[in-house]
Amino acid sequence: MNFYDQLKEELKNLDDSGLLITIRTLETPQGAWINVDGKKVLNMCSNNYLGLANDKRLKEAAIKAIKDWGVGPGAVRTIAGTMKIHEELEKKLAEFKKVESTLVVQSGFNANQAVIPTIAKEEDGILSDELNHASIIDGIRLSKAKRYIWKHKDLNSLEEKLKEAQKDNCRRKLIITDGVFSMDGDIAPLPGIVELAKKYEALVMIDDAHGEGVLGEGGRGIADHFNLTDEVDIEIGTLSKAFGVVGGFIAGKKVLIDYLRQQARPFLFSSSLSPAETAAALEATKTLSESDNLVKKLWENARYFQSKIKEMGYDIGGTQTPITPVMIYDEKKTKEFSTKLYEEGIFASAIVYPTVPKGKARIRVMISASHSKEDLDFAVDKFEKIGKEFGIL
Ligand SMILES: *Cc1c(COP(=O)(O)O)cnc(C)c1O
Repeated sequence: MNFYDQLKEELKNLDDSGLLITIRTLETPQGAWINVDGKKVLNMCSNNYLGLANDKRLKEAAIKAIKDWGVGPGAVRTIAGTMKIHEELEKKLAEFKKVESTLVVQSGFNANQAVIPTIAKEEDGILSDELNHASIIDGIRLSKAKRYIWKHKDLNSLEEKLKEAQKDNCRRKLIITDGVFSMDGDIAPLPGIVELAKKYEALVMIDDAHGEGVLGEGGRGIADHFNLTDEVDIEIGTLSKAFGVVGGFIAGKKVLIDYLRQQARPFLFSSSLSPAETAAALEATKTLSESDNLVKKLWENARYFQSKIKEMGYDIGGTQTPITPVMIYDEKKTKEFSTKLYEEGIFASAIVYPTVPKGKARIRVMISASHSKEDLDFAVDKFEKIGKEFGIL
């Protein structure tokens, strides 16, 4: 069989086992209501937590940056691709995050590639939560460090692994966890992790992609939420979720950032963010620094929707964030439920095996500050109607 026939066959296998991804196309900008494949639907599956992706202030900043700086960065950051606006963004982000320094890279995905293999070498050990994000897993794969995988949010399991790493004489022990786990909306047990890190002299790295702009004072993230900013060594954030733009950043001590600027491969070998992206991200950071209105609105919306859905009799698991998993359990039913929602005007994704364990299928509803109370009521009504039709309620 030739290469192309092999690919065709593999695609067919994916399709037969129900794992083929349907990619839907938006015909309008991000927002509460969007047109998808010719249909107007309430958007309940984007990461645009604060509605900034189509915000007027951000758009104007991006347009101005194009006029002032052009469209392309022209080079990687270390050669000729560092513009004043990149440095301004890093400074403003550091202020917002209350850390010494930050480094901006092309995406949250890249931020993990930039940090993990750069600071964890052969003589080191990485301790990773078993449910960590794919970009952390890939970052770990790029490192020659020893790997210790601990059970999800299980501090006893983490301590066992720390003891193993100690026995193996690892030079550095790097604990890595997602801040917010995106399928269940639960958050990492950071206080316990920090305590263990102290006991075993380990470093704490937290990837807070879904926590930036959501958790903590004014959206300063999970470390701020637990009042542990000074105890976390490395924070990874994304500019593509609540910040509404694209890009990723690393926040920490100045010496760490200075080191990454010299050694991190995505920073050294891939061009920087474009002027428009950089300026828009800077404007998002300013917006968040000036006011917590959007973050407050997001949480109000999340609490309202979650309480209504729970009252109705749905199980939404142990979410602690605006991510709302509406548990349907059965895979087939979940897909049909999602299709029915779409027909009724609601765009919310079905999350099934292998993304989550078998029998834990759910509709994942992403709440945004851009939703109005009427939008949420509309969704609540549809969940009630379809839930009854499906015999779930
Ligand atoms: C979304 C996400 C990323 C990737 O961020 P991008 O900026 O989209 O590349 C990385 N880590 C976690 C935990 C995420 O949820």
